[in-house]
Amino acid sequence: MRRVGKNTFVEIYRPGCNPGFVETSDGVVMIDTPQHPIDAVRWRERIEEAGPIRYLINTEPHGDHTLGNRFFKGATVVGQRSLAPIFEPYMERMRTNFIARAPNDDPDSVWLYEHPDYQAANGPTLLFDDQLTLHAGNHTFQCIHMPGHTAPQTSVFIPDEGVVFTGDNIFCRCRSWLQEADPWLWLDSLKAIERLDVDIIVPGHGEPCTKEYLRTQAQIIHEWLGEIGKLVDQGVDEDEVVARGGELINTIDPFPIGQRLDDWRDRIGGLNAKNLYLSIRQREGRVTGAEAPVV
Ligand SMILES: [Zn+2]
Repeated sequence: MRRVGKNTFVEIYRPGCNPGFVETSDGVVMIDTPQHPIDAVRWRERIEEAGPIRYLINTEPHGDHTLGNRFFKGATVVGQRSLAPIFEPYMERMRTNFIARAPNDDPDSVWLYEHPDYQAANGPTLLFDDQLTLHAGNHTFQCIHMPGHTAPQTSVFIPDEGVVFTGDNIFCRCRSWLQEADPWLWLDSLKAIERLDVDIIVPGHGEPCTKEYLRTQAQIIHEWLGEIGKLVDQGVDEDEVVARGGELINTIDPFPIGQRLDDWRDRIGGLNAKNLYLSIRQREGRVTGAEAPVV
């Protein structure tokens, strides 16, 4: 676990996302949860030594950020309003997959998947639209809606620590997943992150970074938009665009795939390409990928 602020810690090397927590003078605030049950219960035991968990803030619906919620009952779960209705369907899709693979991939978690105490999903109950400020001890936490990687995407800005958690609006030096992204809103959100008074950015995956990396993240999105926009302009059909996505990713986004995601290495380019093909087509007549603004 790495300390990234005076009282802020993040776990970056386990499978799944980068979950984090902040120790305040009156309990702990968590951002996202460990993906694997055995990691989640160990985390809870360690964190509760610092005090009760006051809030658990989810940055997005994907299971690598939410599967562990069920192991943190008692914390008030916070999320952007559009996260609530999709929370369980998103998470269950991923959970089914994980349960099937657990005996081989994660045998220590099998009994926890089946444990009667941990069957409720524990989705968000404290919801916000644009922004919500929370207080715990002497700390404030600003939850800010920053759609992009997903629709309910949320950044958690902690002014007292000079830190922001962005979830998967930033993949630091590991491959970017755009499988359901709105790339134009994502670029706007990167500009909003730039305006925050922070020293450290905790990405959803990869190493904590500084604002310098925002340019690289924006560049990857622009290049995806530009390349897929060209194919749309040439009238290339969807299947062909998806096939080309698998090659394009090697030049657009040469970073390694993230933590224990090897199975996806050959599919992520196609998923990204498919989403951008559909998104650009939807916006035809307004803005095409080739005309996207340059940061
Ligand atoms: Zn993620």
